[in-house]
Amino acid sequence: MPLDVPTLFIVSIFVTTILGLFLLFAWIQDRSIRALAWWGVAYLIGGLSVALFSVQDSLSDPLSVAIANALLFVACGVIWSGARLFHGREVLPYAMFAGALVWLFCMMVPGFAASPTARIIVSSLTISTYTLLTAFELWCGRKEPLVSRWPAMIVLFLHTVVFLTPIPIIVLLPPDHRYSAFLSGWFAIFALETLLYAIATAFIILAMAKERTERIHKTAATIDPLTSIFNRRALLDAGRRILRRQVWDNQPVGVLMFDLDFFKKINDRFGHATGDRALQLFAETASANLRATDIIGRLGGEEFAAVLPASNLAAAAVAAERVRSAFETAAVEIDGHPVKGTVSIGAAAAINPDSDIDDLLALADKALYAAKKGGRNRVVLADFVPGKAARAADEISTKPTLPGPGIAPAAVPLVAADAGAKV
Ligand code: GH3
Ligand code: MG
Ligand code: MG
Repeated sequence: MPLDVPTLFIVSIFVTTILGLFLLFAWIQDRSIRALAWWGVAYLIGGLSVALFSVQDSLSDPLSVAIANALLFVACGVIWSGARLFHGREVLPYAMFAGALVWLFCMMVPGFAASPTARIIVSSLTISTYTLLTAFELWCGRKEPLVSRWPAMIVLFLHTVVFLTPIPIIVLLPPDHRYSAFLSGWFAIFALETLLYAIATAFIILAMAKERTERIHKTAATIDPLTSIFNRRALLDAGRRILRRQVWDNQPVGVLMFDLDFFKKINDRFGHATGDRALQLFAETASANLRATDIIGRLGGEEFAAVLPASNLAAAAVAAERVRSAFETAAVEIDGHPVKGTVSIGAAAAINPDSDIDDLLALADKALYAAKKGGRNRVVLADFVPGKAARAADEISTKPTLPGPGIAPAAVPLVAADAGAKV
């Protein structure tokens, strides 16, 4: 069935315009993604360009051919600029209009305007360059994990390939067949491909924008803005998931509760900003001294907690001591102030299928209380507390495997909280 180019043009005008308005509408709904407005405008410019193309045959006007193409290249430039904006890079206005300006300049050269071959080659190169640049922007921003980025890059790359194919065709065909061969069939295929490309790209753009918005909301709901680690809710959720999984695997789970020592005094002596910096330093130090599979979060104020998968009490104690000593070293001086920050840590562990994260945290919190009572800047292990997690915690702590000289297993009857031991 032969493809009817004028019909394709009319469909393209309507589809591109509707998609452009759709993208603008999406931008009005979420103005934080300015790229949506750029892409919407690009589609409207593209629609205008196709409208000019569709009337050019009847007008046979070189000016309308020149302007229609120039508009198409501006649309491509604006799409590329939108991709730059989407990834936080600035728009390059000269580069955005370069394709259209080069084209208009070429069209003033009489030999060029009269040569369909030259015009097709320059058009193909211009469109392919902008499309490839757009794909390149998406590739450069790949650190932001958006799933829809990948289909977008594939579609852009395929579009580049399609728009480069006229060049060898037009160069290799015998001169008298060139333009007629191109017009008969190929042109319709390009028009159809461009229409499908425009539709696919618009939907992928919307998917990318939606994904980004969801990610931002999710981050705001789960990440503590000061320290960039999990907030209380996210930590508890992650802790619950880890516990559920580890019960199946019959593996113990360790929990650490941290509380910075005399933090109020740090604020009072050195100011709130230094206090904030101390909190950030603790989050960085603790994260760096735990395993990648461990989860750490800020419970609030100067209190933090960590959930350690596949860790018995002895392993949790070793991790806690590593964090304690690393923070003591790192916080000697903060922002030029002799802060001498330290942290007290309570550790607990369980393999009991009944254990829940709140029980474990309560267990660790009691040990933390003992660490405070025992003089601060120390790790205390929870080795006995009545309750659901008790059996497991008890089981584990009867076989302590704390290595190294000077590190002793804790014997902390938490009912007598002042009996905390420094490990
Ligand atoms: P202890 O050794 O017994 O834990 O004493 P502390 O001073 O650390 O504990 P306290 O609970 O008395 O004080 C905690 C302080 O933490 C009080 C509060 O002003 C401060 N704080 C809570 N959140 C923040 C924060 O986001 N930034 C800063 N700079 N300070 C905070
Ligand atoms: Mg506190
Ligand atoms: Mg404190």
